[in-house]
Amino acid sequence: GKPKVAIVYGGKSAEYEVSLQTAFSVINAIDKEKYEVLPVHITNKGRWVEGHVIAGALEYKEQLLLDENPTAVSANEWLTPSNINASKHKPDIVFPLLHGPNGEDGTVQGLFELLDIAYVGSGVAGSAVAMDKVLAKDIFRAHGIPQAAYLAFTKYEWTEQREHILAELEGLIGYPCFVKPANLGSSIGISKSHDRKGFMGSVELAFQFDQKVVVEEALEAREIEIGVIGNDELELSTIGEIQSGSDFYDYESKYQDGETNLIIPAMVEEETLAQLQTLAKKAYKALNCSGLSRVDCFVRTSDHKVFVNEVNTMPGFTLFSMFPLLWKHTGVEYRQLIDRLIRLGIERHQKRS
Ligand code: ATP
Ligand code: MG
Ligand code: MG
Ligand code: MG
Repeated sequence: GKPKVAIVYGGKSAEYEVSLQTAFSVINAIDKEKYEVLPVHITNKGRWVEGHVIAGALEYKEQLLLDENPTAVSANEWLTPSNINASKHKPDIVFPLLHGPNGEDGTVQGLFELLDIAYVGSGVAGSAVAMDKVLAKDIFRAHGIPQAAYLAFTKYEWTEQREHILAELEGLIGYPCFVKPANLGSSIGISKSHDRKGFMGSVELAFQFDQKVVVEEALEAREIEIGVIGNDELELSTIGEIQSGSDFYDYESKYQDGETNLIIPAMVEEETLAQLQTLAKKAYKALNCSGLSRVDCFVRTSDHKVFVNEVNTMPGFTLFSMFPLLWKHTGVEYRQLIDRLIRLGIERHQKRS
């Protein structure tokens, strides 16, 4: 029969809502002549719920909340290795459309490794390291990949050595700076601080989401994003630019205010384009990514120097998100892109087993 694709979405993460939007788009677009689509909802409390095979289009996002479905199976059972292997629903591949911790960070990937099931996207190490901005930055540094100056510390260190951290920050980075939870996405918990007082508040905010934060020099720069797909052989998309109406590309400008422009293709000099392309591939490889990633970059306004900001191993994936739009402009339609990613996931699994 057709290969079964389990679409796993939701998740115990601050990016739960974003994942539902992505799943809605993917489930409606995926070629159902070719694949059997099995929805698996992880509630925001972390409960797994498997639904029936979806054959047609969904009308409402709420249809993804399979808890109401009386025949839904609790996937705490679904997750038992013996159970999943015996199940008539055993997927041929899982598409983990999960953003943030508990989904984009290697945890779910490790589970599918143990179950010996193919999945879309990066493996355990790539996912984990890309999600942790501090580990990722340390690796970029080891590879000589240009990035903003940064400083990282834990909640414990902040309590114990605050004066020391402030001195280091003000010596190394100064203001304005960006303060971020080490592990998250969608700009949740990120703020820009302009002075010491603001910084204290930014740190408190970031610590609501993680035990570790990273502080970065605020670059005066254009924001450019590139899509990368592939396992061994990499393909790059056209580049896109974010022009947000706010102070920076925060949660509201990503999903709510409608004032952000995604400019595709971004207009840069030929030399800058080449530098961005090299940077994107280097960053992807340095973090051991596979399948797909969106590499977020900066081009400094003053001198056009390129910097990597971060790598997202499961970037926003709705029809209107940057990553699919970049590929569309490159000549790969949304449905085709889903297909390519599934094939890459299967290829990776076969090579490893
Ligand atoms: P996502 O995963 O949704 O892309 P994220 O939560 O991982 O986002 P970042 O991409 O690191 O967060 O940062 C969010 C935004 O903050 C950037 O898109 C940019 O607008 C701004 N920003 C982050 N770091 C810097 C910096 N060092 N200098 C200037 N602007 C920055
Ligand atoms: Mg990110
Ligand atoms: Mg992200
Ligand atoms: Mg980003």
